[in-house]
Amino acid sequence: TGPLTQAVLSLLDHADFVRRLEVRANADTPEDAARARRLGAQGIGLCRTEHMFLGDRRALVEAMILARDDTAREAALAALLPLQREDFTGILAAMDGLPVTIRLLDPPLHEFLPDRTDLAVRIASAARPDPHDRELLTAVERMHEQNPMLGLRGVRLGLAVPGLVAMQVRAVAEAVARRLRDGGRPRAEIMIPLVGTVEELRLARAEAERVLAEVATETGTTPDCPIGTMIELPRAALTAGRIAEVADFFSFGTNDLTQTTWGLSRDDAEASFFPLYLEKGVFAASPFETLDQEGVGRLVELAVKAGRAVNSRLETGVCGEHGGDPESIHFFHRAGLDYVSCSPFRIPAARLEAGRAALTGAAGGDSR
Ligand code: PEP
Ligand code: MG
Repeated sequence: TGPLTQAVLSLLDHADFVRRLEVRANADTPEDAARARRLGAQGIGLCRTEHMFLGDRRALVEAMILARDDTAREAALAALLPLQREDFTGILAAMDGLPVTIRLLDPPLHEFLPDRTDLAVRIASAARPDPHDRELLTAVERMHEQNPMLGLRGVRLGLAVPGLVAMQVRAVAEAVARRLRDGGRPRAEIMIPLVGTVEELRLARAEAERVLAEVATETGTTPDCPIGTMIELPRAALTAGRIAEVADFFSFGTNDLTQTTWGLSRDDAEASFFPLYLEKGVFAASPFETLDQEGVGRLVELAVKAGRAVNSRLETGVCGEHGGDPESIHFFHRAGLDYVSCSPFRIPAARLEAGRAALTGAAGGDSR
């Protein structure tokens, strides 16, 4: 390594020495996890499991969600279980000894279901339409949503599809048991997305705990698997004190929290009137890139404070895009979060910025 690389490395060492914020990665493959680790990630703050259900597995997901009856759904879930177990085993191996926060399935539903126009065209243009296609179209139409981002996502899907939470939690628990048997140090955490009320978390958590206990008995292991929630709806932030009674950790989903606090579509806003707003100075920067401290940030601060007041061991982090944004990192440091989580390629800059925040941040210290 040349002198410049040496200088950067020693700067990073220095930042690591002074920073209080941990830096984790958003990663959902063993390759990304390994890359993030090489760049200094101290764990995975967000493993998005919906990315594991695309490609070849789409048909199984369709079958699970649109299943005609319990038997069909159970068959799809049984086929998904070993695939998920492999997914998690690989990621836990790549991050051995470090926390891996596995988020239960959180897709916008339309990304998983077949397109209804395509289906209708296929039926209309077939000489003898496949009866399965007709059945599928009826099911897809029944589940069609005008606003999928505000629809059957996250914990809502977990509660609506019997066996889904259990399948994913079982896959995590079995992967942990396997890693333990192989002498590893797996540290899986289970994260429930898009919670709006403590009751949703209570139900999902009870199901997760039931399955963890089941697998513990079957395998003779006692995996320590914290269960927490994302805070990504204003209502969750406003009722954080209640939610913290049932959560081991909070992870702020600032992408959705920005969308829902502002009433702006994540998918459309930047392409529509954002350029005009930036030009007119309504925004200094896109609130999806740099945290809106006055609005979204207030909700973060409020939730951290309320959550810790009832649960002093509550871990707090952020896993939205803002976790890798320099200015936002300074804010998260001041708000007293435990970690930021960002894309692997942003890890070195986040480490540096967390170090700078510790040196320059006004309030700085842990707010506990
Ligand atoms: C978020 O909403 O900030 C988040 C991390 O989840 P996703 O981007 O997957 O909705
Ligand atoms: Mg989200």
